[in-house]
Amino acid sequence: MTGSADLPVPLPSLSDLVVERVGFGIFVLDRNMNVLMWNRFMQDHSGFAPEAVIGRPVFDMFPELPRAWLARKVESVFQLGSFAFSSWEQRPWLFRFDHDRPITGGVDHMQQDCTFMPLMHGREVIAVCVTISDVTHVSIMQREREEAVEKLREFADRDGLTGIANRRFFEARLTDEFTRWQRYGGDLSMLLFDLDHFKLINDQFGHVAGDTVLRVVAQRVSDMVRKQDVFGRFGGEEFALLLPCTPLGDAMGVAEKIRRSIADTPIEVQGVAVCVTASVGGAAARVGVPDYEAVVNEADEALYRAKREGRNRSVALG
Ligand code: GH3
Ligand code: MG
Ligand code: MG
Repeated sequence: MTGSADLPVPLPSLSDLVVERVGFGIFVLDRNMNVLMWNRFMQDHSGFAPEAVIGRPVFDMFPELPRAWLARKVESVFQLGSFAFSSWEQRPWLFRFDHDRPITGGVDHMQQDCTFMPLMHGREVIAVCVTISDVTHVSIMQREREEAVEKLREFADRDGLTGIANRRFFEARLTDEFTRWQRYGGDLSMLLFDLDHFKLINDQFGHVAGDTVLRVVAQRVSDMVRKQDVFGRFGGEEFALLLPCTPLGDAMGVAEKIRRSIADTPIEVQGVAVCVTASVGGAAARVGVPDYEAVVNEADEALYRAKREGRNRSVALG
């Protein structure tokens, strides 16, 4: 007679083999949240073998599980007999599993999509099968894409040389504020600054020095304006400041403060103190002004009057 070693090993069923080898978690719960089945993926990622889990409430082993939410989800599948889902975007993870992505991915745990599937016997739901898919790579890619889009949006709004708002962004904000003013009234002013004889600065010190002057002026003004103001580069050596909720008189006070801050402290470029001045034109939205372009034109006219009257001054028409 042969010993037990010679007995034929019963072949596992194909479905058992598949369930063991698939690259996602599969487990089964009864109505009391007891575990009835636990595949290899769940074992590998949780550290609990099926023997340790099966027959026990899943919450015993995994206190991190969202108890009320999970119990409600499973109960709804028992009651309705239909599938339920949960994506990583709603709930990043169900089980606190590690992931194999680099730390630079920016996610702490394996991101999971979950499916809740009713296991039927005739018309009756006898158990709920839960699948856990590792979607960490998808979530990282999506996060990276969102960050890239955010950065592009930021670049699209900024002037490359000075880092302040560019003209496109400034005009978009001006349009918004003008529309708000038309609807709700109040005050809305804007200032246009143009550096005086800037061509001479370029000619005398070079274009690179000219760029430095533009950057320093932009920084100096940015540090002075309020958070709700919009300061932007309008063109070459021309800047614009939008002042919501500010009457023209107050805006011209700001204009003078900025003009003095530019004129009073020379800008040091490569060891040389460069004296810079600016002329400023101011205008405000008022009844009869048809569109925001009219406000810009009026500020521009005031600016040129400031130039004609000798530069290094601020002017409002009227
Ligand atoms: P005004 O007082 O009448 O404004 O004289 P201005 O010399 O400032 O005016 P003008 O418009 O004749 O010259 C502007 C100069 O600004 C000419 C242009 O080369 C220079 N400029 C425009 N953009 C830049 C820039 O990005 N960097 C530098 N360095 N210079 C610039
Ligand atoms: Mg100019
Ligand atoms: Mg100029």
